[in-house]
This record gives sequence, C-alpha cells and structure tokens, in this order.
Amino acid sequence: MRLRDGAYYKDLAQKDPLLESGKALAPMTTFRLGGEARLFAEAGDLEALRRLALLARAEEIPSFVLGGGSDTLFDDLGLEGLALKLGGDFRKIELLGAAGDAVVARAGAGASLAGLLESARAWGLAGLEGLAGVPGTVGGAARGNAGAAGVSLGDRVLALEAYFPDGDRRETWGREKLRFGYRELSWTEGAVILSVDLGLTRSAPDKVEAKMAAALQLRREKTPLGLSAGSVFKNPPGDFAGRLVEEAGLKGYRLGGAVVSERHANVIVNRGDASASEVRALVAFVKFTVFKRRAVELVPEIRLVTREGRLYP
Ligand SMILES: Cc1cc2nc3c(=O)[nH]c(=O)nc-3n(C[C@H](O)[C@H](O)[C@H](O)COP(=O)(O)OP(=O)(O)OC[C@H]3O[C@@H](n4cnc5c(N)ncnc54)[C@H](O)[C@@H]3O)c2cc1C
Repeated sequence: MRLRDGAYYKDLAQKDPLLESGKALAPMTTFRLGGEARLFAEAGDLEALRRLALLARAEEIPSFVLGGGSDTLFDDLGLEGLALKLGGDFRKIELLGAAGDAVVARAGAGASLAGLLESARAWGLAGLEGLAGVPGTVGGAARGNAGAAGVSLGDRVLALEAYFPDGDRRETWGREKLRFGYRELSWTEGAVILSVDLGLTRSAPDKVEAKMAAALQLRREKTPLGLSAGSVFKNPPGDFAGRLVEEAGLKGYRLGGAVVSERHANVIVNRGDASASEVRALVAFVKFTVFKRRAVELVPEIRLVTREGRLYP
C-alpha cells in the first residue's frame, strides 16, 4: 500500500467539487465503527461516478463503494483511499413493464432496500416481502445476495447493470451471467453495481403489506438490539452459526466494548465504546473457538474491509 500524507489528499480533494477529505466512516455504518476515509464522495450520476473512479485510478488510490454500511466493518485506521456512495439518479425506483408473468421493476443501487419494498407494496408487487426490515441499499443487497425468511434478492434479479472502472465501461449482465450464491454474488472487485431489474409478481397491496408486517414482526422478536451488522458468520452447511457459537459457551462473551449478543449468538454488538479492532479480534476468537471444539470453519458474512479497501477473504 502506498501511504501518502494528509496534504496530498487535501490537494486531491480540490480537483473535484464532490470530493471531501478526512471523512469519518463510523457514522456511515450500522456498527458505528472505523476511522476516516482519506477521501469521500457521493456520485449522483454515471458521469460523476466515472470522473471519480478514473481520478482514483489515475492517482493509484484504492476506492471502495459503500451502500448503507450495514454489512461492513472498516478498520480503526480508516481507508487509505476513496469511499464512494451512490446518490441522485442511483436512488431511482421505477416500473419498466411486464415480461411474461412478471412485472419488472428497476431499482438504482443507491436506493434503500426499504424504499424498494415500499414501492413494491404500493404497486401491489410480491416477491420481496421476506426482506422487510433488512437495512441497507439495493446495491449492497445485490452484492451480498441479502436474504431473510426464505427469500433472497438474487432470486428475483433478472439483470444487473454495472460500471467497471478497469476498462471504463458500463455493462448489463443478464440472469444467465449472474452467479448468486448464499449471501454472495460472484463479482469483480472494484466494479460498481448501478441498478438491478427485478421480476416481481402481481398481487394486492394489502396482501403484500400483511406479508411484510409478518416478516417485520418475526425480525423484531429475533434481532438483538444495539449497534451491529446483523449475522457475523454464514451458516455452515446443515447447521447454524449461532447454535455453534452458543454451544461453544460464547454467548455474552466480551472483548472490550464488543460483545457476542445474549439474544442471538451469531451477532456481535458494539456496546457503544468498542473499537473496530475489538470486533475483529472477537470475530477471530469466536471462529478459532468453534473450530477448536467442532472442526467447523465459520466464514464471516460481514465484510471486513482492510485499510486498502480490500475485503478480508
Ligand atoms: C440489524 C441488522 C439486520 C440484518 N439482517 C439481515 C438479514 O436478515 N439478511 C441479510 O442478508 N443481511 C442482513 N443484514 C446485513 C445487511 O443489512 C445486508 O447484507 C445488506 O444487504 C447490506 O447492504 P448495505 O447497502 O448496507 O451494504 P454495505 O455494508 O454498504 O456494503 C456491503 C458490501 O457490498 C458492497 N457494495 C455496496 N454497494 C455496492 C454497489 N453499488 N456496487 C458494488 N458493491 C457494492 C460493498 O463494497 C461491501 O462489500 C442485517 C444487518 C443489520 C445491521
């Protein structure tokens, strides 16, 4: 990683009116953790996104696209590069029309998942109700194939549009090219999802609303209170990460301000005074303890982001 001083980034921030230097990342995440991004910008349209991505590339600084920050843990030392968010045009949600039995809705990657579900309810379109209450954006949900109550966003994605800074190109990928897995989309790191087209089913708004309310109720009963990023680990085949963590006696286990939730053992909560390092160390400790006891290797579901904006494997 090439380290540059604050003056370099301050100068760079002068090159584009959208750029800010030294932006706190913690308020942009649900964990409320992480240091500063050397640079930050919110792009409202493709031209702005291209300009910023190409500037980062020309300067050889890493860039990281952030949605709602509800699945992300940054480093306490921050991000040695550019944190990008999508606003403006990228928050649009529109109906494209019918395709066979499905009605196609296009959602910008910067739109909130809650906004998408609200539009689907108002239009009387079913298929996403199980995701009610999942925080974050459409882009983040597509990247991680967010799922709940037996529904995953990827199940409904017909096409996805993305911008690839390497090659400066915009592409639409149809369903046949998209590899959605369990909480994962096989993806080119650095490429930015711009929008997704979803195939939804006609229904009545009150039916859609009732299903969403049921999903929300279930979530309220199960979700721990406090600052977190939801489930820490993916469920291993045939088992539940929370069950394994609980069986290892780690419910309530604390490291500084980070604690394994008493309510749901697969959630780590920032009590308000944790550091990102404490959460990371607790993630590693839980993983090690479960592995030692049961020889099961838990895989993090949350995105642990390095200082260079890469994801820990
Ligand atoms: C209380 C709580 C409950 C939760 N419950 C669930 C649940 O039931 N099911 C579930 O699946 N998840 C759940 N989560 C996790 C999280 O909300 C989801 O994974 C969500 O979809 C993440 O979206 P985001 O916009 O916040 O992503 P972020 O955290 O901002 O980003 C996650 C990843 O996506 C990438 N990304 C974001 N936008 C783009 C884009 N436009 N292009 C390319 N890459 C992008 C980021 O670079 C990062 O790697 C929960 C989290 C919390 C805090």
